[in-house]
Amino acid sequence: MTDPPLRSRPARERRLAQLRANLEAVERRIVAGCAVAGRDRAEITLVVVTKTYPASDVELLAQLGVRDVGENRDQEAAPKHAATTNLGLIWHFVGQLQSNKASSVARYADLVHSVDRPSLVRALGRAARSARRRMDCLVQVSLDGDPCRGGALPADVPALADAIAAEPGLRMRGMMAVAPLGEPAREAFALLPQLRERVLGTHPDALVISAGMSADLEQALAEGATHLRVGSAVLGARGPLGYRPNGG
Ligand SMILES: *Cc1c(COP(=O)(O)O)cnc(C)c1O
Repeated sequence: MTDPPLRSRPARERRLAQLRANLEAVERRIVAGCAVAGRDRAEITLVVVTKTYPASDVELLAQLGVRDVGENRDQEAAPKHAATTNLGLIWHFVGQLQSNKASSVARYADLVHSVDRPSLVRALGRAARSARRRMDCLVQVSLDGDPCRGGALPADVPALADAIAAEPGLRMRGMMAVAPLGEPAREAFALLPQLRERVLGTHPDALVISAGMSADLEQALAEGATHLRVGSAVLGARGPLGYRPNGG
């Protein structure tokens, strides 16, 4: 991925103001969602998904206090991470992952949200060990049984959790899901705390529930999400041809 030319100073200031306003609006939604659900805001991590937007936006987000960023494609995430390593951010990999990308992802990802099959667990384990890094993993659960969108069947979650925990270099931290198409998100998300309950006895660190995006973060908060993955509500709508250089 190549970044557009550096923004002029006024353009940078405009983009900063826009990101600040969007972040504040998302923060108000999170606080309100926590109030409705009787949750504590301090339990919630906002992961800002920066896919299709340039590294310069990652810098502005860091300047605004964002600590966690997410990406869904290695080809895009690796150079963006390389351009911003000095910022000390926590990198989340949230997209479907091919095993042959595991060694690249292991160089920068702190938490992989999308672990959904044993072959990927083995590849990530090998990659983490050779990178001499420890990677946290979430089992991605398919809430609609459609394998095209990634995710393990709920019945396969305990075995995948065991496989992650058995790999030196990996740590089993919880579950991730994307809301199913054409079904109420909240009812689908309700499965996640049940699955967590099932594995928590053997995997006491598996406390993370990553669910909720720009459109459904309130529903996810109501069902126990600890990590929200929010892209367009912060960065702007993504066009079919990728980011819009003028700020979207
Ligand atoms: C893009 C993406 C998000 C963020 O989606 P928005 O609707 O832009 O908030 C969250 N999770 C995953 C897996 C994604 O690919």
